[in-house]
Amino acid sequence: MPYSYDDQNIFAKILRGEIPNNTVIETDHTLAFADIHPQAPTHVLVIPKGAYVTYEHFAAEASDAEILDFTRTVAKICAGAGITQDNGARYISNAGPHGVQEVPHFHLHILAGRTMGRMVA
Ligand code: IMP
Repeated sequence: MPYSYDDQNIFAKILRGEIPNNTVIETDHTLAFADIHPQAPTHVLVIPKGAYVTYEHFAAEASDAEILDFTRTVAKICAGAGITQDNGARYISNAGPHGVQEVPHFHLHILAGRTMGRMVA
């Protein structure tokens, strides 16, 4: 489906350096930074540098290089945060009005360091 990207969203401003962020990892195609309102001891947001609105948009239109870079960056963050098979994490991407997405630039939340509540709709 076609997406229109609002380049005034807060993550676009972070990518342009107009707003500071607490960077965890930056690569050619991906930026990861601490969520400003952490919901767990580890709460990292991972975003592609490209202008994608949702996960579906990214999955459909990003290049192989962007997708590989994004997924490997997630793995590096998990390793750095001590996320293992034994303790685990939660990975969330909200999309659109039904997903109650606040910032319209695709982002993956990585939450870890405590037991999460059971998922509810
Ligand atoms: P969403 O509901 O999935 O779009 O969540 C957006 C997330 O971005 C929320 O968890 C916010 O706390 C976070 N956030 C908003 N502005 C900033 C910022 O300037 N720096 C870091 N995180 C932010």
